Amino acid sequence: MPAFQLTTLSQSSLQDYADCARRFQLRYVERLAYPAVESEPALENEQHQREGEFFHRLAQQYLVGIPNEQVSKLANTPNLQRWWENFSNAKDLAGFKNLSGLYPEATLSAPLGNFRLLAKYDLIAIQENKVTIYDWKTYRKRPRNEWLAARMQTRVYRALLVHAGAHLNGGRPFEPEQIEMVYWFADFPNDPARFAYTSAQYKRDWDLLLKLADEIHSASLYPLTDDATRCLYCPYRSYCERGVRAGDVGDAEAETEAEELFDVNFEQVGEIAF
Ligand code: SF4
Repeated sequence: MPAFQLTTLSQSSLQDYADCARRFQLRYVERLAYPAVESEPALENEQHQREGEFFHRLAQQYLVGIPNEQVSKLANTPNLQRWWENFSNAKDLAGFKNLSGLYPEATLSAPLGNFRLLAKYDLIAIQENKVTIYDWKTYRKRPRNEWLAARMQTRVYRALLVHAGAHLNGGRPFEPEQIEMVYWFADFPNDPARFAYTSAQYKRDWDLLLKLADEIHSASLYPLTDDATRCLYCPYRSYCERGVRAGDVGDAEAETEAEELFDVNFEQVGEIAF
């Protein structure tokens, strides 16, 4: 049993562990706040992150029934105005008004080994026999589908919906084949990333999640990643002597990862009661 009292795992903490055990240790075991931001690109990142969080709030308000005219008044920066206009005009999202089975900001959880796995969904939309997980992304670049497919978020969100979503389906667990996950990009409204699901993928994902939870439960060593490119935007660089300033944005994935690393996680906010 490790010497820390972590009780929940999320896609963020699992992604950190998969990317770099040391990062997981600093963030979730030692609970270190990341050092003060020192460079202008990082400040821009934080500003972009804040606008992204606000955009999520606007979408949630709209999905609980607040009229678009009212919500759009709150989109008061150039980024927010553009994202909101794209959201309002997106063909993919147009059917929402006709759906009764909308669950914005739904939280699901289930036991995972010695932990509880927790996920907060931007939107779960149920229509007849199909259930779609929507996740809004405000990335400045459109990441590759292969990169998204391998992310813990894609695995956790679909697997947990099968595992813990029965109450949204009249008490019956969803079949993996009923599920699709859609990343909708506020700056690329006509190019969402769609991921269907199968029973074989579900088994693979849940087995992997259990294995990671077991590893985390028994971990005593937290090695630094061998892949120094993972350090470029890591907020803990100075703890690891892996550079002080952020590197140049080399590709879409590096940037999107940077945005996620500055995100606030459930575990940093505090314990969650069940
Ligand atoms: S700077 Fe690199 S080695 Fe250190 S926690 Fe971040 S990713 Fe891991």
